[in-house]
Amino acid sequence: MPALVHEIYYSLSGEGITTGVPTIFVRIAGCSLRCGITKDGRKLWCDTGYALSPKAGKQLSKYEIIDEIKNIMPLSGAQILITGGEPLEGENRHLTIQLCDDYASICLNQNHPFPRIETNGAESIRDLQNMVFTLDYKLPGSGMEERMNLDNLEVLRSRNNSQDELKFVIRDKLDFDQSVHIVHKFKPNTNILYSPVHGEVELTELAEWIKAKPVPKARLSLQMHKILWGNKKSV
Ligand code: SF4
Repeated sequence: MPALVHEIYYSLSGEGITTGVPTIFVRIAGCSLRCGITKDGRKLWCDTGYALSPKAGKQLSKYEIIDEIKNIMPLSGAQILITGGEPLEGENRHLTIQLCDDYASICLNQNHPFPRIETNGAESIRDLQNMVFTLDYKLPGSGMEERMNLDNLEVLRSRNNSQDELKFVIRDKLDFDQSVHIVHKFKPNTNILYSPVHGEVELTELAEWIKAKPVPKARLSLQMHKILWGNKKSV
């Protein structure tokens, strides 16, 4: 079964514990969330709005995706990041799983033996193998918190994988306080990333909040690609 792929490109990872690591991005098209749109009229802050519609992708088979990855990086190893859109939603889920089951064909860097999956927190990660996760938990400022699959937080804790990440995108202090509550309640025992909603929270303000209420394994995660290349696509 093919997946809808918006783009495949090579750059440096811009966020989280692998910031700066050479990375091949496989961006899947289609996501049913609309982060930032709230009942009180706040607007979309998703920075990949161009990949939200299933129409934003072309159908590629697993073998076509592997060929494209190998054309970009035939010998030495880059990290493979499967992102979106949402790679675990709908018909795209099956191909994401197949691609990860074939990880030995595409992950040539022994420090990163499995693809990293950036997933929105609404789709279940239970029983998925051969991948590491950057799992979002959508906070009140996203307007999407009711879509969160809380079982995923239990799964993160039981995986106890030092490469996994739980990511909070912070729009305001209410979001930050809720993130602390979620960590204390579910004790996910993994890397905790704090990223600001661009233009809505001051970086120094977020830094001070993290310092004042540090949860285990917390870190500020800025979008390095925006610092390096600005608000461009495919970088
Ligand atoms: S889950 Fe990700 S891709 Fe979907 S709307 Fe939110 S930020 Fe955008």
